Amino acid sequence: NQAILLAKRPVGLPGPDTFQFVSSDIPEPREGQVLIRTLWLSVDPYMRGRMNDVKSYTPPFPVGEPIRGGGIGEVVASRHPAYRPGDLITGDLPWQLYALSDGRGIRPVDPNLRPVTAALGVVGMTGLTAYFGLLEVGRPKPGETVVVSGAAGAVGSVAGQLAKMNGCRVVGVAGSNEKIRYLTEELGFDAGINYKTDDLRSALRDACPNGIDVYFDNVGGPVTDAVLFQMNDFGRIVLCGQIAAYNLERPEVGPRLFPLFVMRRLCAQGFIVSDFARRFDEGLRRLAAWHQSGRLKCRETVVEGFERLPDAFLGLFRGDNIGKLLVKVAEP
Ligand code: NDP
Repeated sequence: NQAILLAKRPVGLPGPDTFQFVSSDIPEPREGQVLIRTLWLSVDPYMRGRMNDVKSYTPPFPVGEPIRGGGIGEVVASRHPAYRPGDLITGDLPWQLYALSDGRGIRPVDPNLRPVTAALGVVGMTGLTAYFGLLEVGRPKPGETVVVSGAAGAVGSVAGQLAKMNGCRVVGVAGSNEKIRYLTEELGFDAGINYKTDDLRSALRDACPNGIDVYFDNVGGPVTDAVLFQMNDFGRIVLCGQIAAYNLERPEVGPRLFPLFVMRRLCAQGFIVSDFARRFDEGLRRLAAWHQSGRLKCRETVVEGFERLPDAFLGLFRGDNIGKLLVKVAEP
């Protein structure tokens, strides 16, 4: 068996010394346990937060223990009444080739789901984040203008498409021309802005002639500063994530924009997807139906090989991915 442990808490961007590879025997399940062979692991920006020793909505990863995250695996041996060998499960898995579970934190993969990896993206945590963040926190109305940052990523690409389904003008901000083409040519966004090459303030003015009513923010930093200047009176800002800040060694103090909040009566609200846990079934059912009918498109960026997990994770901060970033650990 192999595992990837958190070797030490990173300061700034994690490096090779953040991770430690260890080998051991494949364990045997005891009564009430299943042995899972890991097939897919999801790498997600929130994992960076769990590498810090700070109080948050999820506890920090302990140093010396395997990193964990969403995954899909196959049951290879079972002494648990609910699972048989061959069953596909999804849920919280350690970064290991094989793992034991007592059934807590895992559930069967919906057998109708195609591809199964949708359970880690559009019909999973990132899809739910877009669904509740946009529809319950942002509450866009038909005819409004919605700007999404991190728009070509797992959450952003779904949030933008849901805003289109709600009759909004949708503008995406992302970090490459290939991503902008994906948004406008494949996902139906009305316009896209490359924040690395375009002049953000003037590009936003051109793309949002009626101003911005809802801003779905995945990134923070200078992109968000530029967007806030174009917000309309009573605009809503959905604070979903701030990836531009996750590797900062100390918090940045940017332009102080609260006078703008006063003048324009803006409302910004943070949220965590698990705030809506009691409605996950509803969200998953609707996301699955839209996905199956082709109304909700999604792409995946797949990195192959367990040993590439750390670098795949760091790819999130380089913008390597279009859509959900996944690591394929083993063939089913
Ligand atoms: P993505 O698939 O969007 O991947 C991250 C993307 O962020 C990269 O591809 C990159 O794209 C962009 N990015 C990286 N660094 C920067 C930067 N410095 N400035 C601007 N953009 C940057 O990840 P997810 O969809 O999984 O997550 C998106 C956001 O949503 C994250 O902030 C995450 O923490 C948050 N989130 C929040 C949840 C909640 O419950 N509130 C739940 C799930 C996610 P590019 O090429 O465009 O730079």
